[in-house]
Amino acid sequence: MYDDNNIFAKIIRSEIPCDKVYEDDNVLFFYDINPVAKVHVLGIPKIKCANFADFIEQTNEQTIKNFFNKILDVVKMLGLKENGFRLITNNGPNGGQEVPHYHVHIIGGEPLGSKVR
Ligand code: AMP
Repeated sequence: MYDDNNIFAKIIRSEIPCDKVYEDDNVLFFYDINPVAKVHVLGIPKIKCANFADFIEQTNEQTIKNFFNKILDVVKMLGLKENGFRLITNNGPNGGQEVPHYHVHIIGGEPLGSKVR
């Protein structure tokens, strides 16, 4: 069940601000408010999916492909492709997911090692 009042839904609706990296009709990328590394960006599709499982099960291949292509575009835009980066998705309580709108963390800008997992 998707909660329309979750914080990322409010960011999509511009009800609360974010530090935007990239936006189009389908996706939004913005800086995490509590970064765990030099670069920490969140990517979200503009659809009502609470988590990764819902995103895969409730959307279609084109939506999924477009979202991941946009992640790579943003990785390049941030200059992270050459030296590497980490993508993280937390799903559900055991995954430590805090915000119930599907999102991917893009983390990099420094050697991460086992620091952020
Ligand atoms: P997760 O635990 O995967 O659900 O991650 C949620 C992330 O959202 C955390 O890294 C938070 O720091 C981040 N976050 C929460 N509120 C905001 C906000 N208003 N703007 C940017 N990032 C946020």
